[in-house]
Amino acid sequence: VPKKGKVEAHRICVCVRKRPLNNKEVTKNDIDVVSIPGNGTLLLHEPKQKVDLTKYLDNQVFHFDYSFDESSTNDLVYRFTAKPLVQTIFDGGMATCFAYGQTGSGKTHTMGGDFSGKSQNSANGIYAMAAQDVFSLLKQRRYSSLDLCPYVTFFEIYNSKVFDLLNKKAKLRVLEDEKQQVQVVGLQEMYISCAEDVIKMIEMGSACRTSGQTSANANSSRSHAVLQVILRRRNQVHGKFSLVDLAGNERGIDVRSSDRQTLVETAEINRSLLALKECIRSLGMDSHHIPFRMSKLTQVLRDSFIGENSRTCMIAMVSPGMSSCDSTVNTLRYADRVKEL
Ligand code: ADP
Ligand code: MG
Repeated sequence: VPKKGKVEAHRICVCVRKRPLNNKEVTKNDIDVVSIPGNGTLLLHEPKQKVDLTKYLDNQVFHFDYSFDESSTNDLVYRFTAKPLVQTIFDGGMATCFAYGQTGSGKTHTMGGDFSGKSQNSANGIYAMAAQDVFSLLKQRRYSSLDLCPYVTFFEIYNSKVFDLLNKKAKLRVLEDEKQQVQVVGLQEMYISCAEDVIKMIEMGSACRTSGQTSANANSSRSHAVLQVILRRRNQVHGKFSLVDLAGNERGIDVRSSDRQTLVETAEINRSLLALKECIRSLGMDSHHIPFRMSKLTQVLRDSFIGENSRTCMIAMVSPGMSSCDSTVNTLRYADRVKEL
């Protein structure tokens, strides 16, 4: 169990999760270059070569609010990351939880649950666990007088375009009014009467996300998926919890051999992840200028970066293998920049 940090009072929590080496990596004799001694610490042992070709390990230390090793379960990760944010939306605030990392590092596994193999188990993902906790708080007497109604939306942002995962990937427009309020026009907002309803929608939306993946279409690893649990009170938004499975931040896209679409996609992903970093940082600094217009992702999440009572958690996922070292360094540096000062 990771040691308790000083998270509660903070608006931004940044954690790292390492997944186990998978069979493919083991078969290729990839080696584990990441260790998690605990206390929010992560050590990266990057193999390098001197000019005289002697090999050495470049050891780098990173510190986060929590660090989860390869034996950590989704349940444990949830308890220290998204769970503490559920209360925020009942208090009338905005909560966001991001899964960040390269493709294959475990973002969807953490957020959506274990979809590997035949049996989908979305009940053990952060999406479902958060929804379950929203329902258990709704049942508490102190909230019953508030008359809160829960709704869910689930959409994908690919190449700056928004697609509704609860409505056959319908393409939606994003509008901003004169008060800078951002609206996704026509987004299905489903009323939910129990946690099982949410699980059904997560499964429906996740299937919709990965269906029809072709070269001319969004590959799910190249898009951001956003699940929102919205509490409405007399039809006004009381609180909103956005859970985001971000697009892969892979390194080393070869500019010469990649097709135009891949390059456009990559540029767009980089732009939105940069915008996200800037917006989270301005939340931590209580800045009045939030550069949410820098990307569609941050524009759509604008509500989450404003307000007294906004809280964010980022889970940076890392693959353990030496072959992923470049992406892992990239992910850790990004997460390090997002930390509250
Ligand atoms: P991403 O969404 O970041 O591209 P996935 O969540 O799809 O990555 O994970 C890639 C593969 O690794 C999947 O088969 C997933 O089940 C597996 N995996 C990811 N994280 C873990 C973990 N913590 N423990 C076991 N398997 C994992
Ligand atoms: Mg994924």
